[in-house]
Amino acid sequence: MMHASVPQQDILAADVVIVGGGFVGGALACALGDQGLRAVVIEAAEPSALTEQGFDGRASAISLTSRRLLERLGIWDEVADAACPMLDIRVADADSRLFLHYDHREVGDEPFGHMLENRLLRRATQQRLLRHPTAMLIAPASLVALTRGSDGVEARLAGGGRVRAPLAVAADGRDSPTREQAGIRTTGWNYGQTAIVCTVAHAEPHRFVAVEHFLPAGPFAILPLNGNRSSIVWTERTRLAPTIMALDEAAFTRELARRFGDFLGALRVVGPRWSYPLSLQYAARATAPRLALVGDALHAMHPIAGQGLNMGYRDVAALTDVLATAAADGRDLGSEAVLARYARWRRFDNLQMLLATDGLNRLFSNDIPPIRMARDVGLAIVNRLPPVKRVLMRHAMGMIGDLPPLMRA
Ligand SMILES: Cc1cc2nc3c(=O)[nH]c(=O)nc-3n(C[C@H](O)[C@H](O)[C@H](O)COP(=O)(O)OP(=O)(O)OC[C@H]3O[C@@H](n4cnc5c(N)ncnc54)[C@H](O)[C@@H]3O)c2cc1C
Repeated sequence: MMHASVPQQDILAADVVIVGGGFVGGALACALGDQGLRAVVIEAAEPSALTEQGFDGRASAISLTSRRLLERLGIWDEVADAACPMLDIRVADADSRLFLHYDHREVGDEPFGHMLENRLLRRATQQRLLRHPTAMLIAPASLVALTRGSDGVEARLAGGGRVRAPLAVAADGRDSPTREQAGIRTTGWNYGQTAIVCTVAHAEPHRFVAVEHFLPAGPFAILPLNGNRSSIVWTERTRLAPTIMALDEAAFTRELARRFGDFLGALRVVGPRWSYPLSLQYAARATAPRLALVGDALHAMHPIAGQGLNMGYRDVAALTDVLATAAADGRDLGSEAVLARYARWRRFDNLQMLLATDGLNRLFSNDIPPIRMARDVGLAIVNRLPPVKRVLMRHAMGMIGDLPPLMRA
């Protein structure tokens, strides 16, 4: 894969310098580039490491509105054949016989979303970025310093190259060094849960149904992939996770099958297992002078509703709209007024999703009998109330809130 490097002592001028070229940073650069803004992305990892050795084992639920964004950016075309539609969602509570069933036909013709392997999405995003006429990816690059002054920012790279722009964006993930360096504090907590992630092949077809099974340790999600395969996100207590991760193949498959059930026939784990400790984290501010945060650098949430990346894409679409409007009006892209509009737009939406995922996890990841009874009654009531169900389904599709133009129909 080709990538650019800045020759020693060269100074590159850009409209926006983005630190982090993952899903969110890569999509933002393409979106800004499509608006005629020159975005330069500084990515620490080797692009090939992001595709092959860097395969993180996960697949993501891409909501309807995120798909629209990816279509407009020319990324979706590259992955459409590999994406598996989710037509129904079934939510079951432990061994209770009550469950909630969402059928996409209750809200229209479109699937709720698509399941897509992260490695394919990351590769397609970077390939689009590398072909983009106005965006640029510098990778692997080591950022030595990011200086923010009153009239602009300067990113200094190991080797001597420099990038100057009126605005920097931190898209460098949950542990964002750029956010830390700007002194933006985060609030949050650990869940004491770890997500064990793997892919299984099964004898029977999944019929495009996603299953979320709430077990006492946390949600166990079975998410449809192309072919007779599903992606598993198995939430376990963190103190038990290392033991499960260390099981041999037969014992791991047995434990998995016990939770999975037999509704898709015989199971086989394909490929490696991965584990991710789960926590909630929210940056106290979405901006600092001449800096905006996007994606996991701004918010990291429980994967219970598969919405972390979708919220990152909403940041991308909102920031693109704010910056394109400011550029059309001839305003300074890094000015306080421009950044304040972005922060206001994203604050409520992100907070609402963080709290919703946190609440859902607390409600379902426990086995206290009165709470179990109350939530089972709740599930049964919601299942019989079509208007409430429709609101929840529109939420899963990303259709709620003040949608930026890039995500509208
Ligand atoms: C188990 C699990 C399942 C999930 N499932 C879903 C799902 O179904 N749907 C969904 O919407 N979300 C899901 N998520 C959340 C989703 O994975 C994240 O929200 C998403 O990866 C965030 O993307 P990002 O680009 O902001 O950050 P990252 O993916 O972390 O990318 C950050 C990038 O910045 C680079 N970087 C870091 N530091 C530097 C530096 N100093 N200089 C330059 N570059 C740097 C990194 O190399 C990386 O490429 C899930 C999360 C987990 C843990």
